[in-house]
Amino acid sequence: MNNEIPYKIYLSEQEIPKQWYNLRADMKNKPAPLINEDGSICSKEELSKVFCDDLVEQELNDTDAFIDIPDGIRDFYKMYRPAPLIRAYCLEKKLQTPAHIYYKFEGNNTSGSHKLNSAIAQAYYAKKQGLKGVTTETGAGQWGTALSMACSYYDLACKVYMVKVSYEQKPYRREVMRTYGASVTPSPSETTKTGREILKKFPGTNGSLGCAVSEAVEVASELDGYRYVLGSVLNQVALHQSVIGLETQTALKKYGIKIDTIIGCAGGGSNLAGLIAPFAGEILRGENNYDIIAVEPSSCPSFTRGTYAYDYCDTGRITPLAKMYTLGSDFIPAPGHSGGLRFHGMNPMLSQLYHDKIIRAVSVNQTDVFKSAVEFARVEGILPAPESSHAIDIAIKEALKCKETGEAKNILFGLTGTGYFDMAAYQNYNDGTLKDFPLEDKEINKSVDKLPIIEA
Ligand SMILES: *Cc1c(COP(=O)(O)O)cnc(C)c1O
Repeated sequence: MNNEIPYKIYLSEQEIPKQWYNLRADMKNKPAPLINEDGSICSKEELSKVFCDDLVEQELNDTDAFIDIPDGIRDFYKMYRPAPLIRAYCLEKKLQTPAHIYYKFEGNNTSGSHKLNSAIAQAYYAKKQGLKGVTTETGAGQWGTALSMACSYYDLACKVYMVKVSYEQKPYRREVMRTYGASVTPSPSETTKTGREILKKFPGTNGSLGCAVSEAVEVASELDGYRYVLGSVLNQVALHQSVIGLETQTALKKYGIKIDTIIGCAGGGSNLAGLIAPFAGEILRGENNYDIIAVEPSSCPSFTRGTYAYDYCDTGRITPLAKMYTLGSDFIPAPGHSGGLRFHGMNPMLSQLYHDKIIRAVSVNQTDVFKSAVEFARVEGILPAPESSHAIDIAIKEALKCKETGEAKNILFGLTGTGYFDMAAYQNYNDGTLKDFPLEDKEINKSVDKLPIIEA
């Protein structure tokens, strides 16, 4: 019977979703609103100074369950979607597990990750508004790459602030962005006021996503015809990423597969939010149950060791505040190899779901992550991104638990991207020089102690 399930469950072009699913509409406890420094709720007008108008609407919309995907965006999706849902037959065999493992592969585009799903939407709305260009930050470089592809498609200027450690470790990523016409600046830089302040406060810093966000926001608010766009964290990004979960749901339905466990890596939370959206909706409506696991690096454990509080989304403290699980906006993680997971906070919607125990979270060490990445690459063929490999590691561990108990669980995980630009990290692993960065409580307390005190 199971032999009838193909290695790859493909969907047709018509099955690309026509609407995004807004999980917030089904949440009884809504995520807390974005607020200003004085504690007042951010108005539409205030947010529109930083973000594009349509995206502000989406950010504030927690009532409409379905939001139409404009044809302009859907046409672009057709170039690289639907993404395949793959049955990991070879991995199952290698692990000798009775579990069935499935993964949704989002790496089949030049940017190499799921980030293109939101980049194209954000560029579309910027163009629609008649803007000249957008600014953004990028960690590992996937978001910057995705956005530069999207901006070149719509003929928009694109200014990328790239976390310095990645800028240096990944020169080829930088060149992909420039090939698509973006300008790329290592962050923190001397080109902005916040960058100069951060450099003074933390001389020689490797940078962090939080620093780069500050710089990009500052530039957007000072340049005429520019807005800032963000590749993760915000609820609008989670909304765009729901195409991942919706396609997965359609594919599973074709073969009558009921998933038990859903696993995703969590940096700012966008791929996880997108993958789980329709399934978490079923939980919230009381229709079904799933064990949903967020996997984060032990060097940046926002869920598992963070605090649920209002905090800035950036180190320079110029963004609105979001209520989320956070390590404090001053927290600068050790220079681990999963650039895309080095963010101090977490998507507000996922934070609420975690707080309400709809999802759970675990943290893993990067040495374990790379061991699992290599094991996966050798049997499944795809060379995974280090970020995605956090999900692989827990999927393998869950499958091995099934081996002990004899349970034939259906395990699903998000394979968010490929690791071709992460070969410096793989080199460290292959040379045996990759190490873990144990994180002491006192380091977390140092930045958490500086959280803004806001009652909400
Ligand atoms: C950016 C990125 C992530 C993490 O971002 P989320 O917003 O948490 O999804 C994970 N995997 C890859 C490949 C990425 O590029």
